[in-house]
Amino acid sequence: MSAPVSSPIVEEIRRAYAAVGITLDQPAAYGTYYRLLCAGCGHMVGNVGDRLLPGMAAALVDEQFDLYAAGLLGCSCGHQTGQTRELDPTRWRAARERLAE
Ligand SMILES: [Zn+2]
Repeated sequence: MSAPVSSPIVEEIRRAYAAVGITLDQPAAYGTYYRLLCAGCGHMVGNVGDRLLPGMAAALVDEQFDLYAAGLLGCSCGHQTGQTRELDPTRWRAARERLAE
């Protein structure tokens, strides 16, 4: 990636998503929206706006943890499921039992 990093909030978003195996791509529209790419296979899994307040990105990803764990959110290749399992195996198992039937 050649473009310089823009702002602390974008870095925060990048770190938050990296934890669950998602890469922030280059801005899609004037730095307002960023594409989210699967870190495992490169498929696009969504968008995120950079109009977040400090702390929001981590909270957002944390809220989605169970959905990534159960494979209801993220890439169909299963990369986010694997990442969340490494991140917190106990929570991962609980989420699977609750959601993935
Ligand atoms: Zn993938």
